[in-house]
Amino acid sequence: MQNIKELSLDEIKDFLQQKNEKGFRAKQIYGWLWQKNVKDFDQMSNLSKSLRELLKSEFEIKPIKITYSVKSDKDNSSKYAFMTHDNLLIEGVLIPDKKRVTACISTQVGCPLTCKFCATGTMGLKRNLTKAEIYEQVFLLNQEATKAYGHELTNIVIMGMGEPLLNLNNTLNAIELITGSDGLAMSPQRITLSTSGLVKQLKRLADTEPKFNLAISLHSATNNNRSSIMPVNIRNPLPALVEALKYYHKKTQKRITIEYLLIGGLTDRLEDAKALADFCRNFPTKINLIEFNPVEHIDYKKSKPKDITKFHEFLLSKNLVVTIRRSKGQDISAACGQLAVEKEKNA
Ligand code: SAH
Ligand code: SF4
Repeated sequence: MQNIKELSLDEIKDFLQQKNEKGFRAKQIYGWLWQKNVKDFDQMSNLSKSLRELLKSEFEIKPIKITYSVKSDKDNSSKYAFMTHDNLLIEGVLIPDKKRVTACISTQVGCPLTCKFCATGTMGLKRNLTKAEIYEQVFLLNQEATKAYGHELTNIVIMGMGEPLLNLNNTLNAIELITGSDGLAMSPQRITLSTSGLVKQLKRLADTEPKFNLAISLHSATNNNRSSIMPVNIRNPLPALVEALKYYHKKTQKRITIEYLLIGGLTDRLEDAKALADFCRNFPTKINLIEFNPVEHIDYKKSKPKDITKFHEFLLSKNLVVTIRRSKGQDISAACGQLAVEKEKNA
């Protein structure tokens, strides 16, 4: 049966008209589906019983549900496993920090891009998430944020499982609902989409002139080295990525966040820092240095503290904007994809 959340407001209106129902009901139904996120047509209490029965006979709502959650003792972050209607697991994280609560959400079940350091990459791709499944993660995490930390979400990062640019339409439609008055009306300035850097899709995204922020998972600024840890770089080599990002900057005038994973002996040498500084001369950037979060069966090591300091100081000496992000929630496997991978293994 069709998922009613795949219908636009106009499509719901058309459906009601065909059934001789009043057009204004469409807006009510839409509000129940998105602003209230009901799981069941019987919760639509201002509709007649007969209209609810009609909807039930034609459509389903296929919500995601929180099936597991765990809070870190160390840094207070929380991790959530969501189950889809077809019993697939995805994950989200809440990261509190002073006055902020950031939600990290997923766009695919698994990921086809097999980055060597990433737990999600070992799962392969199961399927794309629908716009409703992406939206509902934000809706549910917003409720959880209030319960766990006493206030609503302030920021959203699309940095969970999956590559958003391989599910671009659903991701953009979900963001439209998250930021729209029919949905959660959050500011796009507080949303960051992270990508491994697919050149063709980046240009397509640039052409939509997005208001949200972009982050690139760079992790190495030398072409061969990057290809060896991120196979996506073979078809999307650094010179093409630079060109796409220049175009992106021209279209959006926005500073681009560069995420850079410090892996011991592999991405944290002085020559790596030099290559990164050169890369960042092409457009305005903000660099996030990220500690590698160890993953079972993956052989990489964290950088030594003194190497992190050297790397950081070199970039600062080049007048770049750099922050170090300690990985959050290491005790709850909060790195990309780890929780869902663990749960699947135990199931
Ligand atoms: N596919 C997109 C969106 C997912 S973001 C992308 O790669 O950008 C997931 C982020 O977590 C990426 O920046 C990724 O590089 C990072 N990540 C993956 N495995 C990690 C690990 N073991 N430790 C720390 N960060 C990791
Ligand atoms: Fe996919 Fe991103 Fe993980 Fe690479 S880092 S495998 S692109 S989720």
